[in-house]
Amino acid sequence: MLEVILRGHDNYYGISDVLRLFYDGISEDRANNRVVCLEADDLTIMSIVDGDSVIASCDDKEIRAVAGDIPVKREVKRTLYRLLVDITSRSFPWGCLTGIRPTLVAGEVGQAEKMAQMYLVRPDKAELAVKTYMEEQRILDTVPEESLCIYIGVPFCPSRCEYCSFVSSDISHHMGLLAEYEQALIKEISLVAPAVTSKISAVYMGGGTPTVFDDESMERILYKIRDLIAMDSDTEFTVEAGRPDTITKRKLTAMRKAGVNRLCINPQTMSDETLARLNRRHTSSDTVRTYHMARETGFDTINMDLIAGLKYEPSERLLESLDAVMDLDPANLTVHTLYKKRRASMDKADVLDRNGSRGDIDTVLTKAYSLLEGRGYDPYYMYRQKDTGHGLENVGFAKPGTGCRYNVAMMSDRRDVLSFGAGAMSKRTFEGGRLERCPSIKDVIGYIKSVEEVADKKKRFFDINSIE
Ligand code: SF4
Repeated sequence: MLEVILRGHDNYYGISDVLRLFYDGISEDRANNRVVCLEADDLTIMSIVDGDSVIASCDDKEIRAVAGDIPVKREVKRTLYRLLVDITSRSFPWGCLTGIRPTLVAGEVGQAEKMAQMYLVRPDKAELAVKTYMEEQRILDTVPEESLCIYIGVPFCPSRCEYCSFVSSDISHHMGLLAEYEQALIKEISLVAPAVTSKISAVYMGGGTPTVFDDESMERILYKIRDLIAMDSDTEFTVEAGRPDTITKRKLTAMRKAGVNRLCINPQTMSDETLARLNRRHTSSDTVRTYHMARETGFDTINMDLIAGLKYEPSERLLESLDAVMDLDPANLTVHTLYKKRRASMDKADVLDRNGSRGDIDTVLTKAYSLLEGRGYDPYYMYRQKDTGHGLENVGFAKPGTGCRYNVAMMSDRRDVLSFGAGAMSKRTFEGGRLERCPSIKDVIGYIKSVEEVADKKKRFFDINSIE
């Protein structure tokens, strides 16, 4: 067992985050001031803060620093990271940067070279972060501070993808709930949205798979949204039609009539074998067919998601999927890295692929980014998640002027987000960067039963004066 003993600080979270890059099975043992890793070989590491000095040591190895260029909390992580690099002879593309969005740090630091040096980030990643930060800022400037973004959540999917732990309900078992959910969602929106006086910058209908509803229900919901939410000609309205098998011409036509001007059709991979094994129940030709149908229906801004490092295919397969998707010429293309969601049925070892049995995902991602940039896509938002293979990232790319405002505004935590639906999180921002959150009820049945209370809570949260 490996243990890191904390002295003079309580940054358990940061210590766990750094350890997670190198090892599995991390847990905090606060009673004994330590973080342990049951799956690693025996080793005791001391992590000490003593005045200005920050030390990470183990046997005869010691990393000593004087806090100054970065805050003490981050120095604790940096010294531990440096020690573990020394012990294991392994390093990671984002260095000791964990638990914080790379673009946030890029904004703080300002220069790629400085970011690379301060956080031991590989230079190409630091450059990616700075470039993405600049584009994020440009898009955020188009979202007025006093405006509102709206999220509408539909936590249902036709089947659960093997890597997902989303609170999605398999509709083959919950058909009845879908109708009740539709009613509850419309009720919540009708109790809150008409009283909103702020400009609506963006509306995002996500999930789950919002297009899981049948044609009639989808039309009803979309037209209600159009009637209840005061969008203007400038409002960005996205529908995540993630699963191509749920998209029909009638739903697409209804979306256009309701003002939807951005659509997501997500192949994840263009390998039919991988799709089937992941339980996604659609094929690559479904993706191509629905993409063309959407373009014919008038959608110019379509996003397509791919996942790097998928189980069941070699990492290099991403490049073939990328080629096929780029040939369709979507305005936006997002490249995610497979990560371990808490309740996903896929094994953590399969997700992380620490021994690289599927190939070098890091190199493949670098190639993918350069192919994307060569085809005129710029990175415009980025985030990282815990338990991602090799600590890698997710990056949204867009053709100039087409980046998604909602994604940037929501991710920045610098704009208010009013959210509807089970499990949806509303956020309010205040001067000085303070943020308050208002969660909805996660459980679908609980949400349906208590939708009026949910709506009341939201009205109070958003300040009755500005809502009514
Ligand atoms: S479509 Fe998305 S939300 Fe639904 S199960 Fe698959 S990954 Fe999860």
